[in-house]
Amino acid sequence: MDTIQSDNYPIYFNNSIDELADFIKKGNYSRFFILTDENTGVHCLPLVKSKIEGLGDYDLIEINAGEESKDIDFCIGVWKMLIDFGADRKSLMINLGGGVVTDLGGFAASTFKRGIDFVHVPTTLLSQVDASVGGKTGIDIDSIKNIVGTFTQPKAVFIEYVFLKTLPPRQILSGLAEMLKHGLIADANYWNQLKTSDLTNPSAQLIHRSVEIKNVITIEDPTEKGIRKALNFGHTIGHAIETYSLINDHDPLSHGEAIAIGMICESYLAHRKTGLSAEDLNEITQVFSDLYPRYTIAKSSFEALFAIMQKDKKNQDGKINCTLLTSIGQSTIDNICTEAELSESLMYYINL
Ligand code: NAD
Ligand code: ZN
Repeated sequence: MDTIQSDNYPIYFNNSIDELADFIKKGNYSRFFILTDENTGVHCLPLVKSKIEGLGDYDLIEINAGEESKDIDFCIGVWKMLIDFGADRKSLMINLGGGVVTDLGGFAASTFKRGIDFVHVPTTLLSQVDASVGGKTGIDIDSIKNIVGTFTQPKAVFIEYVFLKTLPPRQILSGLAEMLKHGLIADANYWNQLKTSDLTNPSAQLIHRSVEIKNVITIEDPTEKGIRKALNFGHTIGHAIETYSLINDHDPLSHGEAIAIGMICESYLAHRKTGLSAEDLNEITQVFSDLYPRYTIAKSSFEALFAIMQKDKKNQDGKINCTLLTSIGQSTIDNICTEAELSESLMYYINL
């Protein structure tokens, strides 16, 4: 599979960890740091260590697994360890993990000493097809997701398919939601290909295509002034459900599970507002309903969901904004949705 060229950095797909070793060798870094979480430290670090042996001094920084680590306290922890380990401007940060590690590690590196180089080695499907590409870094504050962050591109991304072998099926499903989204917003053929594939184990080719779609969009609009907003399809409602679940549920929804619900609801809005056909709406609803478990949304939670949507940084002038579809494979950005319309779309999901 071809290396994808992004905004001044390569995204490697073949023998990626060898490429990482090569990158370190050529990079002339004073020292490097590998950020992992508890799981990637066990499942992914051994392969990386075996390839970088002898390439220079490095230190390990480990955070707890899960979204709770993507906050300012863990970020301060990472900064302090960088200070203790003697990081300087010529240091390199290697973020080895899912979206939590790549977002937090990218943010910590992009702000430490006003920015040191970092690369991503994404180890979840979601981080391979989405979080590691496009230069968004960030942390959450008080359950408001990604409220503080930077747009900073990594120096390279190394996508290693073998890491997905230890990923729990629920995490595969989470990343799959973003792949399906890429088809829905930009490529009907890809959507059709996904629909007919074994999605419990998406192939490396399907992952490569997903990265291509995200990459083309983010290169065109790196700071989300226009076309990049297409990637927010499913995310206005999905993010609100994800945040609500994080606060209220004992076993919260994953990002992808929440976004899948968001995409069903926002496809309904698209049918009502931007011309998505009834056939397309039914097809989308069917595909997501077959793949993802049902989630109970109580009507009494609507107010809380709207309050979360209001705080969404995608909004302007206090109006709730959605990216919608005009057909499968084509999207339209900046659609203002009223609470009545949003309620109706949530009711569509509830009544399925
Ligand atoms: P995550 O990083 O929490 O990883 C999910 C779980 O999988 C964790 O428990 C992790 O330890 C474990 N894990 C990771 N790799 C593994 C492996 N190879 N084998 C076994 N277990 C492994 O979550 P995620 O779903 O990867 O990412 C979610 C985060 O990504 C969210 O915070 C979201 O906001 C962010 N995100 C960012 C962007 C962006 O553009 N920057 C885009 C989408 C999502
Ligand atoms: Zn997403």
